[in-house]
Amino acid sequence: MVRLADVILDRVVGVLDHPFTYRVPECLDDSLAAGHWVRVPLGRAEAQGVIWRVYEGEDSPQLKPIIGLVLPEPVLTQSLLDLAAWMSDTYLCYRAQAVRAMVPASVRQDRSARPKVLWYRTVGTRVGRPSLKQTVFEYIASHGPVDRRTVLDVFPNGDAALRALVAEEALEVMTRVPEAEFRAPEGHALTADQELVLTTIRAGQEKSWLLEGVTGSGKTEVYLALIQDALRDGKQALALLPEIALTPQTVSRFRERFGNHVAVWHSGLSAGERRLTWEAVRRHDVSVLVGARSAIFLPFDDLGLIVLDEEHEPSYKQDEHPRYHTREVALKRGQQEGARVLLGSATPSLETRYAADSGAIGHVRLPSRVLGLPLPAVEVVDMREELRLGNRDIFSGVLKRALEQTLAAQEQAILFLNRRGFATFVLCRSCGQAVECPECSVSMTFHQRENRLMCHYCERTAPVPTQCPECGSDKIRHFGAGTERVVDEVARLFPDARIVRADRDTLTRPQDYADLYHQFFRGEADVLVGTQMIAKGMDFPRVTLVGVVAADTALHLPDFRSAERTFQLLVQAGGRSGRSNRGGRVVVQTYNPDHYAVQWAAQHDYGKFYQDEIAYRRATGYPPFTDLWLLVFEGPELDEVRREAEAAALELRQSGLEAEVLGPAPAPLARVRGAYRFHLLVKQDPHRNCDIGARLRSLQADRPAINITRDPYFMM
Ligand code: ADP
Ligand code: ZN
Ligand code: ZN
Repeated sequence: MVRLADVILDRVVGVLDHPFTYRVPECLDDSLAAGHWVRVPLGRAEAQGVIWRVYEGEDSPQLKPIIGLVLPEPVLTQSLLDLAAWMSDTYLCYRAQAVRAMVPASVRQDRSARPKVLWYRTVGTRVGRPSLKQTVFEYIASHGPVDRRTVLDVFPNGDAALRALVAEEALEVMTRVPEAEFRAPEGHALTADQELVLTTIRAGQEKSWLLEGVTGSGKTEVYLALIQDALRDGKQALALLPEIALTPQTVSRFRERFGNHVAVWHSGLSAGERRLTWEAVRRHDVSVLVGARSAIFLPFDDLGLIVLDEEHEPSYKQDEHPRYHTREVALKRGQQEGARVLLGSATPSLETRYAADSGAIGHVRLPSRVLGLPLPAVEVVDMREELRLGNRDIFSGVLKRALEQTLAAQEQAILFLNRRGFATFVLCRSCGQAVECPECSVSMTFHQRENRLMCHYCERTAPVPTQCPECGSDKIRHFGAGTERVVDEVARLFPDARIVRADRDTLTRPQDYADLYHQFFRGEADVLVGTQMIAKGMDFPRVTLVGVVAADTALHLPDFRSAERTFQLLVQAGGRSGRSNRGGRVVVQTYNPDHYAVQWAAQHDYGKFYQDEIAYRRATGYPPFTDLWLLVFEGPELDEVRREAEAAALELRQSGLEAEVLGPAPAPLARVRGAYRFHLLVKQDPHRNCDIGARLRSLQADRPAINITRDPYFMM
């Protein structure tokens, strides 16, 4: 008997997606363990991979020895290895893909110089002319010890100022701050509702909970109290937020409470910062991690709590392999680690609320805003009626007057839209044809600044036609409204208003987002015009009006979640209004005023919306009543793709699976970048015990080009 090790190679190739067995050389006998990152021979070449398990077994001449360790410490804990295996089975990805998602490249590749976390603290006072340097100094003076990352998040161009301040000894640099120096605010005295939620969770049998609380009800305060519990027990806590909500403001709420213990994890970190944080988490030097979805894979040493804020957010679904849902992984990981899991939202996903109703997880609520602030009044405006009255503008009379009043009162307004670009598309009013991308079968978007059409799937651009390409008519016009058009319209109506725009075109880096936040927060703008990407997490006390310019643009997408998305967007957008005692109102413009998603959102009634929506899901057999799989077939030849999809459908239907197979049908996006696309949907009753995963896996093995997604969030 000799020591053997199974290794999962770091190669995303089907035939290599199984453990390879190697002999453990004597020099590694004592140190080698599951989770180590190693170099091994592969054919005549060399590969890297992770040790899956180590065991005693028969020697054989074919077995080659492991070459050596890449890193002295294991990169994955046993529970992360188990999680990788579970992800591979659940989402039908290669194990190597699951492992890659867990170990950042900066950790896998050998180390270079290690950056340190630096903290700054002011020395004495400093009087200076208003300048960035002076502002940075005052910021640090008023916030106590501040770490470098935070300073640069708040002042993206603050590097030179920091250096100058350190040089003139106005700032002291430290690598660690004595705990006593954080003037840890005690937090608010909790409201009775918050107390009740906490005692219920602390006393409850359940490990996982839904915290359903309206916007501004103080959910974050509950998270902070539970984090405190975890720290008191000597455990680590993880708070997951949608990436876009990781603003300096949000993070500072955690830092103010927990000081040195807090680290952040998001896509804006450098490779060095990532490795530093990753190692600090493993060594338990970090007790509170506030991060975006991939933080769920950090190597916590002793995890006591996972918070998933805004748990309904679609961005928690990863749309590249491994196509995991952060909520599912969080629940799984919580189970593995014996950690408490808290899912928070004002508009819980149907899946989560259903799990709470059926007793699978606990359920606690914060039904009203803190300190009795009312939820804003919502007015629904029927845009068909406006048109009948002869108003062809993008703003209804109600919204125009509301804007006028808001500006006159020197308060702020946010206008939401869920499209970008100047006008959504170019439409022929004679034949009704929209100008589409020849490659992608979606409408092209008109961009005013460049005066060109652009396809947002393949980025192809085209000149704006003066004649309809279909019928030759010259009655061809921009149609719909984009952020640029709304900005122009506000500027035309209110020439003195200071307007800022926020969409994927203007916010390309995390810093743009921080800049915008500060600009608006400090009152340097009156009107913020943006897409749904700014609908959440922004807390501006001076905002008293939120206008939703077109509530229903998402309502007719061919996606079973379109009503849920619309409801969530309207409620979250409305939640930005009236967050102080100035009060607030919301104006929702729509062509579907009677739709239940619009109606219940206007009444802030999640419960009623849930009842209607769950009935629809039950009747149509969509999640949470079924497990859904989307198979996408793509290729350059239409007939070939269709045949392939039909053959797969037949194979699944004849395999005796107890599952419903729908299609194949051309995908709503029937062509992307010149490739034809077909969909096949597979629905399965989750209580029926048939191994659909294994079926689909073998289907995939024969046809590597099919894209298979469990629980798809992108149905186009
Ligand atoms: P949510 O996360 O539910 O949107 P927050 O936790 O952000 O709500 O709370 C909304 C606002 O109310 C914040 O400004 C917060 O500081 C304040 N707040 C929360 N709890 C209390 C409390 N118990 N007493 C006073 N203010 C509170
Ligand atoms: Zn295109
Ligand atoms: Zn035409």
